[in-house]
Amino acid sequence: MQQKGQIGVTTENIFPIIKKFLYSDHEIFLREIVSNAVDAIQKLKTLSSLGEFKGELGDLAVKVSIDTQNGTLTISDNGIGMTAEEIDKYINQIALSSANEFLDKYKNDANSIIGHFGLGFYSAFMVSKKVEIVTKSHKDASEAVKWICDGTPTYTIEAAQRTERGTDIILYIDDENKNFLETDEVDRLLKKYCRFLPIPIVFGKKTEWKDGKSVETDEDNIINDTNPLWTRKPNELKDEDYKEFYQELYPFTDEPMFWIHLNVDYPFKLTGILYFPKVKANVDLHKNKIQLYCNQVYVTDSVEGIVPEFLTLMHGVIDSPDIPLNVSRSYLQSDQNVKKISNYITKKVADRLEEIFKNDRPQFEEKWDSLKLFVEYGMLTDEKFYERAQKFCLLKNTDNKFFTFEEYKNLISSNQTDKDGNLVYLYSNNRDEQYTYINNAKEKGYDVLLLDGQLDVHITSLLEQKLEKSRFVRVDSDVVDNLIKKEDDTEIKLTDKQKEELKEAFLSQMPVVDKVEFTVDYKALGEKTKPVQITQNEFMRRMKEMSAMQTGMSFYGDMPDNMNLVLNVDSPLVKKVLTDVDGKDNEAIKEYAQSNTAIRQLVDLALLANNMLKGEALSNFINRSIDLI
Ligand code: ADP
Repeated sequence: MQQKGQIGVTTENIFPIIKKFLYSDHEIFLREIVSNAVDAIQKLKTLSSLGEFKGELGDLAVKVSIDTQNGTLTISDNGIGMTAEEIDKYINQIALSSANEFLDKYKNDANSIIGHFGLGFYSAFMVSKKVEIVTKSHKDASEAVKWICDGTPTYTIEAAQRTERGTDIILYIDDENKNFLETDEVDRLLKKYCRFLPIPIVFGKKTEWKDGKSVETDEDNIINDTNPLWTRKPNELKDEDYKEFYQELYPFTDEPMFWIHLNVDYPFKLTGILYFPKVKANVDLHKNKIQLYCNQVYVTDSVEGIVPEFLTLMHGVIDSPDIPLNVSRSYLQSDQNVKKISNYITKKVADRLEEIFKNDRPQFEEKWDSLKLFVEYGMLTDEKFYERAQKFCLLKNTDNKFFTFEEYKNLISSNQTDKDGNLVYLYSNNRDEQYTYINNAKEKGYDVLLLDGQLDVHITSLLEQKLEKSRFVRVDSDVVDNLIKKEDDTEIKLTDKQKEELKEAFLSQMPVVDKVEFTVDYKALGEKTKPVQITQNEFMRRMKEMSAMQTGMSFYGDMPDNMNLVLNVDSPLVKKVLTDVDGKDNEAIKEYAQSNTAIRQLVDLALLANNMLKGEALSNFINRSIDLI
C-alpha cells in the first residue's frame, strides 16, 4: 500500500510561511508535539474509563529521544494512535481559509498563528526538513501506517512496522536547528514547557555519580511533575507543601508571605496558586513572574492583560483553558472571559487579604511593610480593589502603631480638625530628617504618620480625593501652629519697609544652598516660639516629587526648591533686630547683620534642623558655636 497526495492547504505552500514567520518562536514546536502526545494518551484513558477501550493501558508515558547519528528527535506515545483515515482527516486536511490575510496581520506572533489554525503539529516544520509519523491505532485490527512529508505540500502514506498501539513523531532536524539535537537544549525546553504535564514525560535515563563521573542508571528520567500542587485539593495541602512548591518554581527565593489557591469551575475554568513574595528591593520585583498554563502546558510568563497590573508583582501559576492564549495581546484585553478572570483574581486577592487581616491582625501588621506595595498599587490602579482594600489598608504612625483608615480618623478627628472643618493628616517621610518637626507636632498632641513608601506620594493624593474634607500635610511644610489652623492668623503689624529691612538682615546672612530659593515669611507666633524656622510648601514639594516619578511634569522637576524662612515677629530677638535696622540702607543692614552672631546662628540652626547645613557653612557654624562657648 502506498498513497501519494497533496496536503489540503489553500495557500500556495504553507511550509515557507511556517519557516519564515514562525522563526522567532520556533522552540515551541516541542511543546506542541509533546502536548499532542499527552492528549493522545489522555484520550485513551477516557476511552478506557468509558469502557470503549478494553485493552491493557500499561505504563502510559511520552518518550522523547535524540538520535544524533540520523539527526532525528523522536516523540513517542502509547496513546490512541491514528488509522490511515484519521491521518488523512486530522493531518492532511488542514484548514487554512483566509490564511494570507491572517498571516499578514500577525506575522510577528507565532503563537497566534499556531493556535488559530490548529497548526500545532505543523510547527514541527519550523525545525525539520522531513517529518515522519509512525502510528498504530488502538482500534482492533488496525494496521500501522507511516506518513512522510519533506516540507513540500506532497506527502506519502505507506504501511509500517509497528506492533504496539501509539505514535512516533520523528523529526529530521534541519541544518539551522541542530541545537535541538543537543541533550541540554531539549532538556531545557522540556523543563520549560512540559514541567507540569499530566502524563510522565521520559527523556533518557537517570544518571548517578560513580567513580567520579556521571553514569546512566536503568531508571527512566521523568522530567515532569504530573500532579502539580495547583491541581490538588486545598484541604489536603499543608503550608509546607505550598512553600516547597514555591521553591520548585523559584529556586533560591525567600519564603513567600502568603498564598491563595485559586479554583473556579464556572463561568470559566481557572486554577492556580498565587504567592505574595517578600518585597525587598524594588529592583528584583519583576524577576520572578507569574506563569501561565493551559491544562498544565506552560504558555507564557507575560501575564499583562490577563491579570490586573498590580498583581503582576505576585508570583505563582495560573492555569486556565479559557484564556484565549493564541491571540494578540490587544484582543486579550477586550475579551470578556479575560475580564471576568481578571476581576475574579482581584476579588480573591482582596478576600484573602481581608481574611488574614481579620483573623490574624498581628501577622498582617508584621508583614505590612512588604504587603503595602501590592495593596497601594492595587488601590491606585483598580477602583474595585480600592473599595475592598480601604477596610484593611493600614496607616503606620511614627511610633510604629498601625491603624485602619477608620481607626485613624477616629484617633485624630478631635484634635486635628482645622477651623474650616478639614481633617488634617500630618505625616513625615523621613523620621530622622524631620525629627524636630515630628517632635514639635507631637508636643502639640498631634499624631504623625510615617509615609515613606514608594507609592505614598500618590496614595496621599488619592486619599485626599476619596476621604471627604481631608488634607495630608507634611510636618515640615509649615510652622507647627499653622499646620492645622484652628483660628485666623494674628495680623502682623509691620510696614512694608520694616518687612524689607528684616528680610535683608536675615537673607544676607543665609549661606548659599544648592538648588534652593528662600522666601521670607512673617508670622506672629508668640514670644516662646523659635525666632527662625524653615518650612517647605506642601503643594510645590508634592509637584516636584510627582515629577521625579513620572515624565511630562519635568517643568516642576527642574525648578529649584522653594523654601520659606519664617520669622517670628513676636520673638524679642526679631523685635530687637527690627529696632536696630530701622532707617538703615541695605548696605548698612548687611554690615550690621554680619556682626550680629545671633542672626547668623539662628539662620544656621534653622538650616540644620532641615539637614540643609553642609560643607563650609556647617564648618563655619561649628567654629562660631565654639567661640560662643
Ligand atoms: P490540534 O492538536 O490543535 O488539534 P494539531 O495539528 O496539533 O492540532 O493536531 C491535529 C490532530 O492530529 C489532533 O487533533 C489529533 O487528532 C491528531 N494527532 C496529532 N498528534 C497525535 C498523536 N501523537 N496521537 C494521536 N493523534 C494525534
